[in-house]
Amino acid sequence: MQSRQSKIITNATSYFMSQYTKHYLHVEKPSLGLPPPPENKKYLLYIHIPFCTMFCPYCSFNKFTYTKEAATHYYTHLREEILHVKELGYDFNYLVIGGGTPLIDEEELLKTIELVRKLFSIEHVSCESDPNHIRPKTILQLDGLVDRLSIGVQTFDDVLLKKLGRYEKFGSGEEVYAKIASMLGILPITSVDLIFNFPTQTEEGLINDLETLKKLRPEQTSVYPLMTSSLVKNSVKKTLGEFSLENEFTFFGVIKESLKENYPSRHGWSFSKESELIIDEYIIDNEEYVGVGSGSFSFLQDTLYLNEFALDKYATFIEEKHSAVTKERTFPANSQMYYRLMVDLFNGKLSKKKFAAMFGENINDVLGKELMLLKFAKAIKENHESVTTTEFGDYLFLVMMKEFYMGMDRIRNDARKGLIL
Ligand code: SF4
Repeated sequence: MQSRQSKIITNATSYFMSQYTKHYLHVEKPSLGLPPPPENKKYLLYIHIPFCTMFCPYCSFNKFTYTKEAATHYYTHLREEILHVKELGYDFNYLVIGGGTPLIDEEELLKTIELVRKLFSIEHVSCESDPNHIRPKTILQLDGLVDRLSIGVQTFDDVLLKKLGRYEKFGSGEEVYAKIASMLGILPITSVDLIFNFPTQTEEGLINDLETLKKLRPEQTSVYPLMTSSLVKNSVKKTLGEFSLENEFTFFGVIKESLKENYPSRHGWSFSKESELIIDEYIIDNEEYVGVGSGSFSFLQDTLYLNEFALDKYATFIEEKHSAVTKERTFPANSQMYYRLMVDLFNGKLSKKKFAAMFGENINDVLGKELMLLKFAKAIKENHESVTTTEFGDYLFLVMMKEFYMGMDRIRNDARKGLIL
């Protein structure tokens, strides 16, 4: 159970982060597109596939109702945008495909991955999927093209699945389990991803989810806290009930305890049998990345770029040989330092040497007050070389990261106003 003092610190941190993201996370300036890259640099490429057959109440990503015709049209434009990025001079070693539902149209997806592999120096491909598209026949086609498949299961609990509308579409917890069991081992890495702290979820329900996961034995898992930004707050309340943070701290402790033996390597809210090759949150793990597709983000040097969200406008930009990037925001150095502090400590450790190499400053000189407050809150430990999190710090940085993602949702919210889904 969370002590009164740690609750106060958590609430204050949450408030500070929401103010911080309100201040920094908005993108209004019109953009002329991505700048040309420096020579010999390789980036991560993110591809967004914005189609789903159903909309989950907690989901804030850019998505539209799937039709074969809309998806075929979209993929044609997407591949043109990829060619445009190639012409600009970019090269990539990592590819992450997210959505939406990337496997919703296998044929188009395979064509696109093959193109990306042909154009760039790709070493690793990670792709998301819902539980509906993971038949062994489909997964066999991905063998050799995709290294990591991340399956958004969210929960094995039938009562919750029914409330979420996923039971009818994707099957019961048992059926989802059987589908995953039948394809495990085909690809090098499968990650089975869960969400915790749904309204009405009990500790017993969470433990059941974790035990089912361990029985299944995928190579990796991510267990995220439910995030209720303004974009999804009402739909969560309507379908699942009143949201509360009361259990979040306890539940995160239960997750870490339950997974520590079978999944010893922890990276934020991701857990792995092996410490290498977690590519879960590309935004977190990569200082710079390029996003293509409607509603994707790119971050290069100190600037966030936003692609057009509306499908028709996205198509027009590409057909007119215009960049699909419509807006950008350049961040001041201090906000980038805060961001680095948050991201590295979300992953448990910040190297002072790496920080100095990135910003040309000693962290104790520029963020001395922040480090002092975090030490006072018993969230971090520090020595000459690094800053690491305590047990409580692990949770506090999860809270910060959650607020950051909810801040990103505000950008999506603004960009999606008036769109027909
Ligand atoms: S959670 Fe996945 S399937 Fe559900 S709406 Fe979001 S992208 Fe679509």
